[in-house]
Amino acid sequence: MFSLFNKHKRGTHIDIYRDAISQEYHGIEHRDLSPGSLRVIEILQHAGFQAYLVGGGIRDLLLGKHPKDFDVATSAKPQEIQRLFRKSRIIGRRFQIVHVRMGAEIVEVTTFRGSAENSDHQQANASGMLVRDNVFGSVEDDAVRRDFTMNALYYDPSNHEVIDFVGGYDDLEDQIIRIIGDADKRYREDPVRMLRAIRFVGKLGLKLAEDTAEPISRLAPLLRDVSASRLFDEVLKLLQAGHGLATFKQLVKYDLLRPLFPQTDDILREGDDPHYERLIHLALTNTDARLAEGKSVTPAFLYAALYWPQVHRRWQELEAEGNNRASSLLIAGSETLDFNQQFVAVPKRFTITVREIWDLQVKLEKRHGRRPDSTLEHPRFRAGYDFLLLRERAGEIPGGLGEWWTQYQIADESDRRALIASAQTEVEDPQPKRRARKRPQRPTHVD
Ligand code: ATP
Ligand code: MG
Repeated sequence: MFSLFNKHKRGTHIDIYRDAISQEYHGIEHRDLSPGSLRVIEILQHAGFQAYLVGGGIRDLLLGKHPKDFDVATSAKPQEIQRLFRKSRIIGRRFQIVHVRMGAEIVEVTTFRGSAENSDHQQANASGMLVRDNVFGSVEDDAVRRDFTMNALYYDPSNHEVIDFVGGYDDLEDQIIRIIGDADKRYREDPVRMLRAIRFVGKLGLKLAEDTAEPISRLAPLLRDVSASRLFDEVLKLLQAGHGLATFKQLVKYDLLRPLFPQTDDILREGDDPHYERLIHLALTNTDARLAEGKSVTPAFLYAALYWPQVHRRWQELEAEGNNRASSLLIAGSETLDFNQQFVAVPKRFTITVREIWDLQVKLEKRHGRRPDSTLEHPRFRAGYDFLLLRERAGEIPGGLGEWWTQYQIADESDRRALIASAQTEVEDPQPKRRARKRPQRPTHVD
């Protein structure tokens, strides 16, 4: 079962063949697949369409991992899919996807995509980036339109075969992530593919093929063309999906931190204050550990750490200029968040919390009178306190204050009074008091 035909396009050529791997080799069991997606495929095939399970679900199963979800790819057009499934709706503009409700599941169904160039249905911008892409095609066309060979494996539940058009099965066996086609062109079409490559390195522990890795550092600046809100989603998939630390290190290695967090990247590269990097690493380690234990995580904590280097630097600067400690921090935080929105658009519901975590860093220093009790009642106390502990562990500030708060939380009323008294003998405010209350100027940022 091996037919070979080549496709030649613009000088680069992709070998397409059809390799069918039977169940005794690949070992995928139906009990590991989602019943909803199997049912959707059955209905599509019964109506005379081709339909397969494809993408990350099949890849993860072949790697012996637990898949997050399964995608269905079919020869049926979006309207045809809708006619077959009463509970379905078409979503997306850049790519049309049909969401089919099957029992409690929502199954994502996509029509095979083609790659006809110069079509009305496909539009690229000046950098070669595809902004609209709804050309339909055959299953082979669909395979070569996908990003990596391991993500282009098609599973047919009717005969249990995995069909491979681009060598993904062998690449998976060799633990290699390989982009389909010409890497340079594929990254230009969609620069997010560079982030996806890195994400799979971090998450799956596989290696990038040489050709797949080579253009990344060079083309990383193209991520500036990607919408800041799409990048917010991608950053969460990169850093808040269980392998954040490993993935962060890969981002740094491939110069991908710069287009996402330019100021953080600058400061980390300088390397003058290693505690900044330690803080980010610790925050990611915490996040990974919490996810491994099935606990919840918030993007706010992660962003509080990712932006901390520039907030902290600017805070110190403003204070040195004679501004009040708390308002310096407030302004440094606002400037940093405003500046970074153009790169990664963090939704307001998270930036509110990010600011609160930062503001608590000054509130936690105040340990006289009723202040500790009111700080303790702050709705973000826990996150602010955790952040303080991270700063101490990173070596940015000496230990002590965090421990004081650890004690304070568990202390009874009289112990609390003793703790407050003991704090008064220490230096309350690490920075000398200044009279000047000059209003700081609006910042001007240079890139
Ligand atoms: P995950 O396990 O994180 O969901 P995934 O590979 O399934 O990984 P999805 O975003 O769910 O990622 O995408 C499903 C499939 O769609 C991919 O496996 C790939 O075949 C294809 N795909 C996704 N994004 C792109 C892209 N930017 N360019 C080309 N193909 C893509
Ligand atoms: Mg997926």
